[in-house]
Amino acid sequence: MNDASEDKLIDGRELAQAVRDEVRSDIQAWTDEGHRAPFLSAVLVGDNPASEAYVRGKEKDAAEVGIATDTHHLDADTSQDALLELVHDLNAAPSVDGILVQLPLPDHMDAHAAIDAVDPSKDVDGFHPENLGRLLRGTPRFVPATPYGIMEMLSRSGIDPEGMDAVIVGRSNIVGKPLATLLLRRTANATVTVCHSRTRDLAAHTRRADLLVAAAGQAAFIDGTMVKEGAVVIDVGINRVDAPSAERGYRLVGDVDFEDVRPKASRITPVPGGVGLMTRAMLLKNTLEAARLHAQ
Ligand code: NAP
Repeated sequence: MNDASEDKLIDGRELAQAVRDEVRSDIQAWTDEGHRAPFLSAVLVGDNPASEAYVRGKEKDAAEVGIATDTHHLDADTSQDALLELVHDLNAAPSVDGILVQLPLPDHMDAHAAIDAVDPSKDVDGFHPENLGRLLRGTPRFVPATPYGIMEMLSRSGIDPEGMDAVIVGRSNIVGKPLATLLLRRTANATVTVCHSRTRDLAAHTRRADLLVAAAGQAAFIDGTMVKEGAVVIDVGINRVDAPSAERGYRLVGDVDFEDVRPKASRITPVPGGVGLMTRAMLLKNTLEAARLHAQ
């Protein structure tokens, strides 16, 4: 990689470290004032290896900044009622500031019911309808960590979305829809298009994007021909592809064909080392906010 392409990189490691350093110092000030450390409870159902890895990563980050955690690991065949009972117990526990139900849940469980059961004041993922409603209204409390992290990456990289044509590929409740809402706010002022699997001529949309966000979960499917010269490209995708020579037998790639797109992009996020780390960092910020909310 030459120097010019180094400059293009939006380095998630560096930016996430900066966020963690800020949260750690805020938590230090918070506990110096006599408050207890913020506390995050994670609920993990089953043994999905990716979910286990995510929760381990979150525990590690939390420890680094001074957030206490515990993880409730439930068997894959746990009943929906038992899950809801646990969530209700965590809602009622005064020592718990934030609750995180790791998705996806096993097929026999209703993810919406689990999300709805979390006390909105402890919903540090920002997935509860009350928090999504607040976001849509323009008075957010907990912003979902991935779109929150993307907005933070843009601002910390000196990228102002105002007036940009922003094209988001993916309309999920955890990435595409809340990100579209954030980019539309008067604080961001982008013009937003949200694409999905039924979009006719996807490339025609992506090619006019000043800001292109790929969040479809399709390995390396955005190539250079789909990107406008000078675009800012944010790759949210985390896809496992077989790699027999890798220690774990797979490697992680984004939704963007990085090497193909990098020459055209003005700025680009890598995978790994991009949005995923910022997502984890913003969860820490939300957990501190939850602790502040509960101390009021
Ligand atoms: P999701 O719920 O599966 O949603 C995927 C979206 O992409 C859907 O709206 C789908 O359209 C659309 N889509 C799929 N294939 C497409 C195609 N070929 N052309 C256009 N649109 C297409 O996924 P998600 O939870 O939002 O996650 C998306 C990706 O981001 C995954 O790789 C996930 O692992 C990753 N992710 C990363 C982070 C992070 O921190 N970096 C956080 C969350 C998710 P339809 O609605 O029509 O089905």
